[in-house]
Amino acid sequence: MKIKNRYKGSMLGLAIGDALGAPVEFTQKDSFEKIEHYRRGGKFNVEIGEYTDDTSMALCLAQSLIDKNGTDQKDQLSKYLKWFEDGYMSANGRSIGCGKVTLRALYRYMSKYCNECGNSRLTRGAGNGSLMRIAPVALFYAHDVKLAMKMAKKSSLTTHGLAICADASMYLTGLIIGAIKGKSKDELLSFEYAKNLFEHIENYTFHEEVTVLGQGEYKDKSRSEIEARGYVIKTLESALWAFYNTSTFDEGLILVVNLGDDADTVGAVYGQLAGAYYGVDNIALEYKEGLMRRELIEELALKLGKL
Ligand code: MG
Ligand code: MG
Repeated sequence: MKIKNRYKGSMLGLAIGDALGAPVEFTQKDSFEKIEHYRRGGKFNVEIGEYTDDTSMALCLAQSLIDKNGTDQKDQLSKYLKWFEDGYMSANGRSIGCGKVTLRALYRYMSKYCNECGNSRLTRGAGNGSLMRIAPVALFYAHDVKLAMKMAKKSSLTTHGLAICADASMYLTGLIIGAIKGKSKDELLSFEYAKNLFEHIENYTFHEEVTVLGQGEYKDKSRSEIEARGYVIKTLESALWAFYNTSTFDEGLILVVNLGDDADTVGAVYGQLAGAYYGVDNIALEYKEGLMRRELIEELALKLGKL
């Protein structure tokens, strides 16, 4: 498969998962009509194919990596702020869905002009807000997985101060890069591959809950045991579970967004990995054509890889 196919797949996959899940975000599993197509509505009253904070922030991060030719935490934060205040990189000018942890970090950035504005003492700070937007870092640094993981951590710390958020983002980054390199699903989701990633950075110990995910316990879980919550571990688990249990992009996408709850974000996390794995050509036309700002997303995806 051509590398462009995987790059576009990862970024479009993220946005498609976000836009498909958005109408049922904050809705309990099995309490809504099954999602298979874009739909209007939800808490933010989205339009057909309208994505939310997950994609907007990923596009901000992508543009920052391109503009700065690498990681510049202040530039990343100022683009997030521009999104929040002016709708920069949003689907249609509306900045919708900003999470509490991110919001606090943006306020902190406004007053302190910090590089790492995430609060490390926040008791409910282990949200999925840095994980959901991480694909651009994986795509930009795909040539060097160790560097990519370090930069994923830096990106996470701009808004999320807890190590567990950074570690989950680092693991997902390693998985996306493996997918881009054409590894099989069995290999990607194996404990050996995870262990390799966890041991890749000297003198660094990954958070225990992230290493448990790497052991693949979720593989044996039933749908009723999977919770698509905003807790970063539950989000990543939901995405990996859907990826493991299906064999096409669309099948996994439908499975994951219909978990409800933080549906747009589990969709976005699933989509960035599955999109890199299956490639953009294997995503249903309906999802690609119905998505707002598809051209911009594809253009940024290619620029991230200098393709
Ligand atoms: Mg969202
Ligand atoms: Mg969400």
